[in-house]
Amino acid sequence: MKSLTDFDILEIPSETYDAVVVGSGAAGLTCGIALSEIGLNVCLLTKSTPEESSTNLAQGGIAVALPKEDSPDLHFNDTLKAGAGLVKPKMARILVEEGVKRVIDLIKMGAQFETDSRGLLKFTKEAAHSVARIVYYKDKTGEEVERTLLENYRGKIVEGAQTRELLVKNNRCYGVLALVNGKLKAFYAPVVAIATGGAAGLYLKNTNPPTSTGDGIGIALRYGATLQDLEFVQFHPTAFCDESGCFLISEAVRGEGAVLIDKHGRRFMGDYHHLWELAPRDVVTRAVESQKRITGGEVYLDFRPIEERGIDIEERFPTIVRKLKEKGLNPKKDPIPITPVAHYYIGGIKVDSFGRTSIEGLFAVGEASCTGVHGANRLASNSLLECLVFGNRVAYGMYRDWRYLRLDFQEIRITGRGAPPKNSQVYSLEDVKQVMWENVGIVRSAESLTKAIDRLSEIASSSSPWQVRNGALLGLAIAVSAMRREESRGGHYRSDFPYEREEFRKHSEFTITDLERLL
Ligand SMILES: Cc1cc2nc3c(=O)[nH]c(=O)nc-3n(C[C@H](O)[C@H](O)[C@H](O)COP(=O)(O)OP(=O)(O)OC[C@H]3O[C@@H](n4cnc5c(N)ncnc54)[C@H](O)[C@@H]3O)c2cc1C
Repeated sequence: MKSLTDFDILEIPSETYDAVVVGSGAAGLTCGIALSEIGLNVCLLTKSTPEESSTNLAQGGIAVALPKEDSPDLHFNDTLKAGAGLVKPKMARILVEEGVKRVIDLIKMGAQFETDSRGLLKFTKEAAHSVARIVYYKDKTGEEVERTLLENYRGKIVEGAQTRELLVKNNRCYGVLALVNGKLKAFYAPVVAIATGGAAGLYLKNTNPPTSTGDGIGIALRYGATLQDLEFVQFHPTAFCDESGCFLISEAVRGEGAVLIDKHGRRFMGDYHHLWELAPRDVVTRAVESQKRITGGEVYLDFRPIEERGIDIEERFPTIVRKLKEKGLNPKKDPIPITPVAHYYIGGIKVDSFGRTSIEGLFAVGEASCTGVHGANRLASNSLLECLVFGNRVAYGMYRDWRYLRLDFQEIRITGRGAPPKNSQVYSLEDVKQVMWENVGIVRSAESLTKAIDRLSEIASSSSPWQVRNGALLGLAIAVSAMRREESRGGHYRSDFPYEREEFRKHSEFTITDLERLL
């Protein structure tokens, strides 16, 4: 299966650039800015408005080894520890060392972070960090990052351009096909970067914007790219959910002193981990679920200890407090009911340290990629840093390859024939999300994954719209990967294999051929 779209390239309007970047979050914009600075003619495609992205929603901040009691070595060790044996050391070194310069660059571009009375950066703490090393701007760091990067990007942006297919021949990428204003358009370039963000939006309960449906990862899978560590999804322990959806309550809230209590008002995290509320995310997530089961009631996040430390929560967390107040809740007085939800996609398109994928001319960056810096579980606030660090490196990698890769318009005469549906059923994205949440969620088992694989194969081969089939295909790849990993590690927990197993202390790889039997 390659194309999900019928097209004949000769009948489609086209534009040609030196480089195409798909996605306008921190990864795509950082890459786009660097490419423009090098002098390349860049076109950045984005599915919705430029600012709609996970980046824009990030609350907590950016982890960086800048405090005087910190060092890249310490940051490296914390990253390794959180990643449960699967962090790629070379990549993590790049992250923590180049990260310092990239955050300083961001400040030079105009990003505001909180400072003390002397104008020195303030740092906050999040789970599994041994020191307070997170730079932040109120509880809307992501908005500040997105604003700064958008203001500094000088290339072209096409809004409302949903990339649907890659133009690939003989394992060489020549551009993308996107739906713009309801019409297909080809964007040719010798080098293309996928920066389409993660896939947590494929789960019913999640913190992500509606754009995070793993589009770029699903597309790359269809065109033969090698994917990595697909089974690892990070669930965040503290979201507020009601019938209208979920929103994140940042870990920085616990970093500033908020505690988790059960329905009896008892602080229970000490039963599960010596770091209490600041234990790794997967531990807190499962502890919350377990405490709910044991007590038969809700688990709450109590903000009041923050105020007891003399911090005004309305000033420190204005967005969270406002959103809670809109729901009729007052965190100054009442503990807030919370629930774990899908938050961050650890797996993705396998890349080298310059973002190269297994397809020539195709690069990936940000949450859509898998560099291996997060291992089996991401250290909080390392992801924006990854976008900044690898966004720059990928631009350099693209430039290096652009110098010898040329567009060959004879080769580009590509015709796509949509993979024929095997059944006439039409599903919605909600169907995919329901299957993922119920069967490929916080706790998985061979039984739940078998159900998911059956159902997602059916949806992926149905007559459903592009978005649903592309999402179902990636969901299927996640479920198969989760089935193969017969252990529990980091963000992947199997009730039938509840421990780490040494023989699985390795990265998993996945290509479309792994799905042949199922489609
Ligand atoms: C609520 C929340 C809070 C977070 N808090 C933090 C934090 O405090 N610190 C931290 O480090 N990380 C945090 N994260 C994670 C971090 O924000 C993301 O990992 C990071 O921003 C990802 O950046 P990105 O550029 O890879 O993807 P995104 O920012 O998601 O951008 C993806 C872009 O791709 C576009 N796109 C998607 N599909 C297509 C398509 N088919 N065609 C064209 N365009 C497409 C989207 O519209 C979007 O512009 C948080 C995430 C969330 C959701």
